[in-house]
Amino acid sequence: MEKNAKIYIAGHRGMAGSAILRKLTNEGYQNFVLKTSNELDLRNQSAVEAFFEQEKPEYVFLAAAKVGGILANNTYRADFLYENLMIQNNIIHQSYVHNVKKLMFLGSSCIYPKLAPQPLKEEYLLTGELESTNESYAIAKIAGIKMCESYRLQYNCNFISVMPTNLYGEGDNYDLQKSHVLPALIRKFHEAKLQNSHFVEVWGTGTPLREFMNVDDLADACVFLMKNYDQPEIVNIGVGEDLSIKELALLVKEIVGFTGELRFDTSKPDGTPRKLMDTSKINNLGWKASISLKDGIKKVYETKFL
Ligand code: GDP
Repeated sequence: MEKNAKIYIAGHRGMAGSAILRKLTNEGYQNFVLKTSNELDLRNQSAVEAFFEQEKPEYVFLAAAKVGGILANNTYRADFLYENLMIQNNIIHQSYVHNVKKLMFLGSSCIYPKLAPQPLKEEYLLTGELESTNESYAIAKIAGIKMCESYRLQYNCNFISVMPTNLYGEGDNYDLQKSHVLPALIRKFHEAKLQNSHFVEVWGTGTPLREFMNVDDLADACVFLMKNYDQPEIVNIGVGEDLSIKELALLVKEIVGFTGELRFDTSKPDGTPRKLMDTSKINNLGWKASISLKDGIKKVYETKFL
């Protein structure tokens, strides 16, 4: 990817897309095509067609998606399926039509079967039933993976798919109804501290295991793979370590300095019991995450709340 290459980042105002933009800018790239969702509705086929016809980007990072935590995924099932399929179908197909040199599609760790062996290896895709709370999102992402693979097989397109683990960091969503667990906990503990509350409510049983990666590590991995990986198989991007939701809550509690107790609301779903990425493949390619969870949470907390 030459320094003057024309790069389209779809979703450049989202958490992942904005981190990729920061990373590329730091490396000296400057020829970006960027459109907000008001300027270009990626669900609109003819609008996306006209955009590609006019801009003809050389490289595409497909980081635009409708995303959310366990409650949003479970509640807005139709929107998660429809919007994500439309966005990715339009961009992937137009990237083929307009001869994009390389496209990277960002998937998710939720594409793997609910009860797959852990850690999750890339080859476990489509070997079992999905977790129900995020099935719509996962089905859309699996379709995106298969789009990239199929356009490569049929039309020789250099389209690759990467599967990030749960992300947190700059640009995250702190809306308690829609967010993922980590930003929700940071906000809840912070507000509980300010209000001198006696407890913080944690959804579910606290036993599910999750892995968390700082979005700046993700951006680093994406740029690394864009430069160094040209194969049809998907690649996991993770840190290779997980912890329980209870352990996570205790860690956030310590960082924020809250002294009350945790209360588990078991009327809320747990979701999948565990989703830890096997990161051997990306590690063997020469990349490793570098931001520790504790340092990452501290930085986010200080930047966003203090
Ligand atoms: P998931 O990884 O797709 O299950 O999505 P989430 O990040 O939303 O949830 C991860 C786990 O954290 C689930 O077991 C949730 O029940 C649990 N959790 C605990 N407290 C919260 C909270 O305040 N918000 C969210 N989103 N999840 C929470």
